[in-house]
Amino acid sequence: MKVLKFGGTSIGSAERMQSVAGLVCNGSQNIVVLSAMSGTTNSLIEICNYLYKGNYCGALEIISSLEGKYNITLNALYSLQETKDEAAQLLKSHFDYIRSFTKDVFTEIEEKIIIAQGELLSTTLFQLYLNEKEVDSLLISALDVIKTDINGEPDVVYIADKINKIIRNDAGRKIYLTQGFICRNLYGEVDNLQRGGSDYTASLIGAAVNAEEIQIWTDIDGMHNSDPRIVEKTQPIPFLHFEEAAELAYFGAKILHPTCILPAKLNNIPVRLLNTMQPEAQGTMISTHCEKGKIEAVAAKDGIIAIKIKSGRMLLAHGFLRKVFEVFELYQTPIDMITTSEVGVSVTIDNPKHLDEIIHDLKQFGTITVDKNMVIICVVGDLPYENEGFQAKIVGALHQLPIRMISYGGSDYNISFLIHEKDKKQALNALSNVLFN
Ligand code: ADP
Ligand code: ASP
Ligand code: MG
Repeated sequence: MKVLKFGGTSIGSAERMQSVAGLVCNGSQNIVVLSAMSGTTNSLIEICNYLYKGNYCGALEIISSLEGKYNITLNALYSLQETKDEAAQLLKSHFDYIRSFTKDVFTEIEEKIIIAQGELLSTTLFQLYLNEKEVDSLLISALDVIKTDINGEPDVVYIADKINKIIRNDAGRKIYLTQGFICRNLYGEVDNLQRGGSDYTASLIGAAVNAEEIQIWTDIDGMHNSDPRIVEKTQPIPFLHFEEAAELAYFGAKILHPTCILPAKLNNIPVRLLNTMQPEAQGTMISTHCEKGKIEAVAAKDGIIAIKIKSGRMLLAHGFLRKVFEVFELYQTPIDMITTSEVGVSVTIDNPKHLDEIIHDLKQFGTITVDKNMVIICVVGDLPYENEGFQAKIVGALHQLPIRMISYGGSDYNISFLIHEKDKKQALNALSNVLFN
């Protein structure tokens, strides 16, 4: 069995949904994971922003405009009047449900319910289309299968148990369809796996059923060697090692959700990135295969804050780093990058939620300097230190830019730089020219 995940653009219109149906009905048994249609999650978030402010008129206006778009899709998607009527009724019940939140108190619980409607809508429409085409498919609610634990992490034992039971009890279907992104939390409330989280759902399910392959279908022909939104003439990468793909996803390559590679890597399930608009393109195959000594790609992660803790007491002191790290642990704020010297340590974080408390607590250990609006530039490839010269080549490409931190040696797969946000475009283009052109 394979898991095929389709992103928002891939199912962004009636025509796109029809071509996705053609791709998934390929004679094999497939599990299909769908995102919300493109733009929907953003609209749902906008609705929630109005509701938080108590502006019900603002919310109702966006709800109606979104409903209008879905009605257009519905009319173009189906051929039979009977299916159109059924879909219209289902759409109405979803949008009436969303409207029901415009009357009362609004909290994060209601927000998550509203945001989940995007994936519930897309899978409802797609299942009706498969029914109309007489494809033997089963719609499984991700809210019954994907659950997070006390740490907000997916409960992989629960997920494997649930999905395998459902498939066993309804064996032999051609397509098992479900929603990406949405889940329940420890308390049974509707929740989600963060923006872009449908990729994560696909790899969690792939791992749970021990799939032959996880396919992430999107609007580009695989992982490119730099961000195609910023750098011209980027190239798709045919093969990536799990570690390389994980570094790229974590450090900003938007094509993959940051944590999506881990479940596949742990279960050694290949992940293939494919283009819905160009299904014959080779795409990117992510597996244990690695091209020796090759610099594969560069990614950039925005919104980084650097914190420097400088202290005379660090000199020859043991336990200093532990105390510093404990502050970040206390505020559940992960550290991305770290560099040290004899008198201080610099770390970066991407979550500013507890920045003030963190700075306050760190002041007992030394003098604190904070740099905001920074970017991590991450160069990824097979880069063990025995491969001479690659560090010089990479640093050389950035010789015209001020670099705040450099980190290498944490793995054999990446070398990272911290630079100012305003220098990001120049840095990505300079690296692309030197490394790939
Ligand atoms: P989906 O909606 O299918 O999940 P996303 O928008 O999340 O699609 O991801 C695909 C987009 O990721 C591409 O359109 C591209 O602009 C962007 N992207 C950023 N970095 C890369 C990269 N290194 N390689 C490929 N695409 C990238
Ligand atoms: N629909 C969600 C989002 O827009 C999840 C996803 O597309 O992966 O973030
Ligand atoms: Mg995505």
